[in-house]
Amino acid sequence: MRMTRQRRVILEEIRNLKVHPSADDVYEAVRRRMPRISLGTVYRNLEVLSGMGEIQKLPVGGPLKRYDKNTHRHYHVRCIACNRVEDVPMDFMGDIEAAMDGSMGFRFLGHHLEFTGLCADCQEAAKDQDHDFSRDPPRFDQSFAINTGRRPGAGPAAGM
Ligand SMILES: [Zn+2]
Ligand SMILES: [Zn+2]
Repeated sequence: MRMTRQRRVILEEIRNLKVHPSADDVYEAVRRRMPRISLGTVYRNLEVLSGMGEIQKLPVGGPLKRYDKNTHRHYHVRCIACNRVEDVPMDFMGDIEAAMDGSMGFRFLGHHLEFTGLCADCQEAAKDQDHDFSRDPPRFDQSFAINTGRRPGAGPAAGM
């Protein structure tokens, strides 16, 4: 697959952006340099770039697809309230696939592990709104509508 100019600009912007941008984040950044580019074109090129191994598409839950300029396998934690996704400082357990391999008649070739939780900002916001997580614990797949003053899914404005 050829590295077109569009593709190169998209890749450059992903490398400049915060760690785990959504397609919309990439689109906003690329549009400043290529005002006529469409969101569809950005999506398509993100798929191509993941296919080329230049970036990786993250297997994280939540409403947004996320992309990562770090193409090594690593684990993430996602805030269930604001959907911020951060790297977890933990070694990738590549050997558990080998340990499982052959069992159940499967060849084990990969695994996904996503942590979920509440980031520091959302814990603060929940405290202000008297949300008692010890009495009303989140389910694994639940999203919370905590008013953090940010657009849902927009992620943190800074600090990433
Ligand atoms: Zn949060
Ligand atoms: Zn990452």
